[in-house]
Amino acid sequence: MADLLSPTVALPYEEPRACVTGASAGGLRPPERGGVRGGASGSEPPPRSEKATALADKCVITCACSGVLTMKKHCPAIPYRPEEYAEECRRAYEAGAAVVHIHAREDDGSPSFRVERYGQIRDAVSAVCPILINFSTGAVGTPMEERVGHIVELRPDIGALNMGSMNFAKYSPERKAWVFDLVFQNPFKDIILLLENMNRAGVKPELECFDTGHVNSVYPLMDMGILKGPLDFSFILGVVGGIPASARHLAFQADQVPRDATWKVIGISRDQWMLVSAALSLGGHVRVGIEDNFYLPSGAMARSNGDLVGHAAEMCRAMGREPATVVEARAILSLDAYRPQDDAAPARGGEGGR
Ligand SMILES: [Zn+2]
Repeated sequence: MADLLSPTVALPYEEPRACVTGASAGGLRPPERGGVRGGASGSEPPPRSEKATALADKCVITCACSGVLTMKKHCPAIPYRPEEYAEECRRAYEAGAAVVHIHAREDDGSPSFRVERYGQIRDAVSAVCPILINFSTGAVGTPMEERVGHIVELRPDIGALNMGSMNFAKYSPERKAWVFDLVFQNPFKDIILLLENMNRAGVKPELECFDTGHVNSVYPLMDMGILKGPLDFSFILGVVGGIPASARHLAFQADQVPRDATWKVIGISRDQWMLVSAALSLGGHVRVGIEDNFYLPSGAMARSNGDLVGHAAEMCRAMGREPATVVEARAILSLDAYRPQDDAAPARGGEGGR
């Protein structure tokens, strides 16, 4: 649901620059916190390719590749058909993403919760890259049973889970009117139903928090034994009705989570790049992609999700961090703790991951 606020005002379509590829040399290296990174007196600094980055400093880049409300007329790179999803996910993977967040669509671009459609998209993506797969479960007005079928039957690595209710609106200062004004209903009974299904399927929940109360809602669920750590949070900032988009508010959200939890930021529209920068500084992970924002900081529209992921990867490196590989992301997100030990389904990212 973090997708409901994708921008709809299109800038002129521009030819993009090439995607950044080969995000990481891969391979885990021992932590080097507290040590001097190269340049010790009397010795040559190691070549750049040998520079080690501790796993704790790696950044998991998630790409929200499709969204649900915006259409190709808004941004031509939005995928509708499974082969388009595959190409967009491959570009995102090659640019540095380790996880892809997917809303299924039919061939005409309309949103879909059909299990078969999600399966077609999953299979097409898996055929071209080993990126970890996160399926949406969020919708307004869709019966709960339709929102869990693809989770139970297809068992993605991660399932998105909205953690609370709120006003969910977009306001136009020019028109002095709401672009849309919804009540985003996610009562605990729905959260628990989704969680129970994810638990049975061995799917790790991504806890999507749009406001401070949503973060603190995890504690009763943990006390009930329905939600088990290590937890993974997503902080969506800047929705009208939720927590504002600022680095201070992001830091406040990050301070609320359990010590062993991971978190990432989801910035909407023009706030995205500022929030990516803040999350990188605070030690968090990031999500970019066409669902959340069409534009590079230059104002040019992304030709593909790879453009947006490539820029996020550049920002990681500029701040002394590296994009996590798929294998590293599996470890950082503790995904193996969620799959039953006797699981016959192969773990994704276990081999061949960037
Ligand atoms: Zn989404």
